[in-house]
Amino acid sequence: MKLHQVSQNCYAVENEKNRVCDANSGLINLGGGVVIDTQSDLAHARQMNTLFGTVRAGMPKRVIITHEDGDHVWGNQLFPGAEIISHRTIPDRMKEVADPAEMQHLIKIAEQIGAIHPGALAIARQLQQDYDFDGINLVMPTTLFDERYTLDLDGTEVHLIYVGACHQLGDTIVHVPKEGVVFAGDVIFSECTPNGWIGTYEKWFKCLDLIISLNPKVIVPGHGPMCGIEGAKEMKGYLEYVREESERCFKKGLTSLEASKQIDLGKYGTWHAPARLYLNVERAYREFRKEPADAPWDKAMCFDVIGEVAKARGLGLEF
Ligand SMILES: [Zn+2]
Repeated sequence: MKLHQVSQNCYAVENEKNRVCDANSGLINLGGGVVIDTQSDLAHARQMNTLFGTVRAGMPKRVIITHEDGDHVWGNQLFPGAEIISHRTIPDRMKEVADPAEMQHLIKIAEQIGAIHPGALAIARQLQQDYDFDGINLVMPTTLFDERYTLDLDGTEVHLIYVGACHQLGDTIVHVPKEGVVFAGDVIFSECTPNGWIGTYEKWFKCLDLIISLNPKVIVPGHGPMCGIEGAKEMKGYLEYVREESERCFKKGLTSLEASKQIDLGKYGTWHAPARLYLNVERAYREFRKEPADAPWDKAMCFDVIGEVAKARGLGLEF
């Protein structure tokens, strides 16, 4: 993990491997300290705290959660007494998608179900190289907001803007206008293949346009290296490209799996985990089939299909 100072008072911890669960965290060193997203397990959360501890001492007064996924909330318990701020949908969604017991269970049974779910086995093995999900308790936000929430930190305004559902239902960006910084959460993946669970392409495009219009000097993405607005433009370019290619394949009668094996990855082939393309193709297909944006996913099946796509393309399997 690497500490970056991105402006006078804003910092980020980057998870440099940039694979699934390698989320970034932010720090605004004003108003008693604000940490943004708390990592995937306790060891990573402690390491993040150690790095931020070189900048400021003591427990931060606040934590902001950009969305409900486990890799952004599983260190919450290491901030006792902090005000935890999130969008109103987050607590219910955390119970649904970020139950640590489910992850612990997957790791435990992965070897047994490997014959039926080779993708689930592969992702469990990858995660075990870096993560330990034991001992995590789900700690819920204490302050909820709807569309916007503004903090005044020693005279510096911080805007929490609800932009969901793009990647997840609770997607929130954190804008510090005075310092030209946006903490984007998982509406921006940098140098790695994005994916979305709940949401629509339309909302995602709108959110990226908003970030571009804010014209930040630095964007701290949810995953991957720091970037500028070119990161938001690249993300939009990728999503537009995949949606268009998916539509072409859909009209030809191909399945989302067949499309995922065939779509030319072009310049995006160098991003981490290119086979995660399947999740974006399938999401486009759901829209073409007029299915609801919050239709549930069979995650074990998704990991299997990503494995199949990687194999068909001759790629190493990486999530
Ligand atoms: Zn994430």
